[in-house]
Amino acid sequence: MESTMTAPLRWTQSAAEALFNEPLLELLFRAQSVHRQHFNPRVIQLSTLLSIKTGNCPEDCKYCPQSARYHTGVGSEPLMEIEQVLAAARRAKASGASRFCMGAAWKNPKDRDLPHLERIIDGVKRLGLESCMTLGMLSASQAQRLAKAGLDYYNHNLDTSRDFYPSIITTRRYQERLDTLSHVREAGMKVCSGGIVGLGESVRDRASLLIELANLPEPPHSVPINMLVSVAGTPLENGSPVDPFDFIRTVAAARIMMPTSYVRLSAGREQMSEQTQAMCFMAGANSIFYGCQLLTTPNPNENRDLALLKKLGLETAHGSVAPEEDERLHRLAERPKEADTALYYNAAR
Ligand code: SF4
Repeated sequence: MESTMTAPLRWTQSAAEALFNEPLLELLFRAQSVHRQHFNPRVIQLSTLLSIKTGNCPEDCKYCPQSARYHTGVGSEPLMEIEQVLAAARRAKASGASRFCMGAAWKNPKDRDLPHLERIIDGVKRLGLESCMTLGMLSASQAQRLAKAGLDYYNHNLDTSRDFYPSIITTRRYQERLDTLSHVREAGMKVCSGGIVGLGESVRDRASLLIELANLPEPPHSVPINMLVSVAGTPLENGSPVDPFDFIRTVAAARIMMPTSYVRLSAGREQMSEQTQAMCFMAGANSIFYGCQLLTTPNPNENRDLALLKKLGLETAHGSVAPEEDERLHRLAERPKEADTALYYNAAR
């Protein structure tokens, strides 16, 4: 495809792969131009993520330390009490997050869990935060119930291309993931769905993943792009590191293919230099997971994130990081690090 600002109505494999083959600086310029048509390029949305039910997942996602099949040292914790969740949500809000994401390591929620989840959603909404959950596969009726309880977003990542998917997960089918996304959309919730770079996939797979997302009946509202964090004990513990430029290309392609979606830098930021993150923002990323701690590897703490945003002259959805605000946020940012850090994890994995 030629370097034109006009995007195809439906992305084809050749058009998507052509993006990945563009000279990097041309691609970045194009992505930034698309980004500026739809978003304020100085604003970054912050989402905070909490594991409300950790470990012992029956699925076999080869990258995930929470699968019961791998010996990763991640323990099993039951569904958290409502007050524990709301205490974490209050801290997230005080630290500057606008969205509170809650993840449970399930294949799918049981109907008996829903009243508890509905009360959690209600509590988070009353705090004035956007709410998001990632609970595994949903039936149509479960999606309807969560939407009725007020859940704004549901995260369910496609992870990778349809062809490569069976190399990474064998306990559920790609189509089941797409079905869950349909249920979420039909229930009126916003879809959050993305993938992981570094699973051993080819450029063709990366392009195919973005095509699946971009060609949904509506592109996802949020698209988390993760860089694999290799965790000891998982089958991908010796995964080859991703070249940062390949990651930046994927972010840029996501921005061009889904111009109105929030593109979120998710797992792997701890391993990224500030310069790589800055280039990802240049490529159109406009959301980060903020203030979360991976179960086995840390995410950048709030101080580092706020300092980076300030250096780059970026603002959060709550406003600019002015010096006085910066000092207040730094003080507040210390609080979540002192408690519950073991509860935070990357639910996008
Ligand atoms: S990624 Fe999610 S579904 Fe897969 S093993 Fe981990 S917690 Fe379970």
